[in-house]
Amino acid sequence: MTEPVQVMVVTPHPDDAEFGVAGTVSRWVREGKSVIYVVCTSGEKGTNDPNMKPDELAKIREEEQLAVAKLLGVREVIFLRYPDQSLEDTPEFRKEIVRLIRMYRPETVVTADPYRRYMWHRDHRIAGQVVLDAIFPYARDRLAYPDLLEEGLQPHKVEEALLWGAEDSNYRSDITDTFGIKVAALRCHKSQVGGHPFSDMEKWLREWAKTMAEGEDFELAEAFHRVEIWW
Ligand SMILES: [Zn+2]
Repeated sequence: MTEPVQVMVVTPHPDDAEFGVAGTVSRWVREGKSVIYVVCTSGEKGTNDPNMKPDELAKIREEEQLAVAKLLGVREVIFLRYPDQSLEDTPEFRKEIVRLIRMYRPETVVTADPYRRYMWHRDHRIAGQVVLDAIFPYARDRLAYPDLLEEGLQPHKVEEALLWGAEDSNYRSDITDTFGIKVAALRCHKSQVGGHPFSDMEKWLREWAKTMAEGEDFELAEAFHRVEIWW
């Protein structure tokens, strides 16, 4: 049987989770929680370089994600390798997430908020929706997948979902002590952030984290819409 984790982070592309939750992941790991990453697509379309081939980029981005995992202390990274920019809400994708939730039995699942309006990457919207559906009712309900039961994957009730990118955040996580690690984690995604002067990006990230912490008694935050699953 797979050793359970406290936290499962489901990211549409490599690097989304670093923008959304890396500071909090680092704090959780310091507190002794085990965290796994599930990476839906390998982000093979994320380039403006005319000489870059998708296969090559997928490989680079997976390596970048593994470097982040090492830095943050993430226990395991699972690459689902769905095609970038073509994520769809299919029964297969949903079942794959259900399977992983039942295998790893996380208390907390973190992903992109599917309900951000207007300009939001389609893969983020789809991943967020599929993950929420997988949590409830499909991972929880015994008869949702009789074949998973036969494999020994019992129903599992996730306790909370944290959604990054939310327009109506209701939960702020203190990253004052781990902000530096978040920045270092983003820096691992060289294929994505390599073109910008990193000092500018760090400044921008700090301003953003400060805004997220407004009204709290700490300086820097990541913000989420938190859904407690109490039923
Ligand atoms: Zn993304």
